[in-house]
Amino acid sequence: MKPTLFVSDLHLSTKRPAQLAAFHRFCAGPARAAGELYILGDLFDSWIGDDQLEEPMVAGVAAALAEVAATGVKIGIIVGNRDFLLRERFAVAAGATLLPEQQVVDIGGVPTLIMHGDELCTSDVGYQRWRRIAHNRRWQNGFLALPWAFRRAFAKWLRGKSMATVARKSNAIMDVEAAAVEAAFRAAGVSRIVHGHTHRPARHHSIVDGRDCERFVLSDWYDRGSYLQFDAAGGHTHDVPAD
Ligand code: MN
Repeated sequence: MKPTLFVSDLHLSTKRPAQLAAFHRFCAGPARAAGELYILGDLFDSWIGDDQLEEPMVAGVAAALAEVAATGVKIGIIVGNRDFLLRERFAVAAGATLLPEQQVVDIGGVPTLIMHGDELCTSDVGYQRWRRIAHNRRWQNGFLALPWAFRRAFAKWLRGKSMATVARKSNAIMDVEAAAVEAAFRAAGVSRIVHGHTHRPARHHSIVDGRDCERFVLSDWYDRGSYLQFDAAGGHTHDVPAD
């Protein structure tokens, strides 16, 4: 069985050349040995429309993924809270499939629920209110129809606003809510979840309805590139090899 790889929260941007280099090393190396590669949100630090493919950094990322896909790796992308406007044009350029917000996938015979994970942070009422707007297709289409300069300015304003709010919020509010996690296990009828978003990499165990459940939280790429690999030996976190 070829391994299944998960990454999230790379937050790629021209402002972070080290992460970008790590991403290209990941695509040239470990990603090619995988059967499936899942990107669980926030591949990009900011996304205001697929016309960003005209930016060289973005075109380079799409091309690197397309090369991975060309070697026979199935790539699935779930959008995050930063790149929720990422759509089909990017996915096609990357040789990837855009997946719904939540999806159950089979990993070595274990049904696994995958998602970005921001929907589990239900204590953050203000964020969840914004999320409902941001994920509304009609609002999205209206926004995407606006001129580039306006979208860029809005994203910058939103980012400033979000940074100010996040600074005020407690650590507990920024993490997942136990009840929401339990509900997600129950609704999907699975005993394994993989998600990102909180930047708190871990492997949690819990009992839901008498079932032994495990939840893998992916690492962000701020310090180093990191991916979760499932193979015959189970699920393990690996660092992207250094240069
Ligand atoms: Mn996120």
